[in-house]
Amino acid sequence: MDYKYDVVNIFAKILRAEIPCSKVLETEFSLAFNDINPRAPHHILVIPKGPYVNFDHFILSARNEEILDFNSTISSVIIKIKVDPCNGGKGYRLITNSGLDGVQEVPHFHVHILGGRPLGGMLS
Ligand code: AMP
Repeated sequence: MDYKYDVVNIFAKILRAEIPCSKVLETEFSLAFNDINPRAPHHILVIPKGPYVNFDHFILSARNEEILDFNSTISSVIIKIKVDPCNGGKGYRLITNSGLDGVQEVPHFHVHILGGRPLGGMLS
């Protein structure tokens, strides 16, 4: 595996509290905060606290408790912002961009949670 984690990426700085974030939820292994450039009324990023570059790095390297915590945090945010369709919410979209073709800007694994308006087609 050849994953080089950049310790000065912006989310690493947020995790070290070197720069602020608008926190939505925090657990032992994960942090959720509002995207600084929201593309929808709800646009929240969920990141693991560990140094993982992208989804495949995370899944191949993280401990099960980190992976479970990360997924639970995504679910908790979805419930918190009341977009879960099982409970009357109007729905949401999860996105994770990876690498060059995925046009990943920040090289610390994150999932975008988008909701609060009709989100249109999957890709434009
Ligand atoms: P991606 O293209 O998937 O890597 O997305 C990175 C996201 O991080 C973008 O949606 C940015 O708006 C967001 N972002 C960059 N810097 C910050 C920051 N300091 N606080 C919150 N979100 C940020």
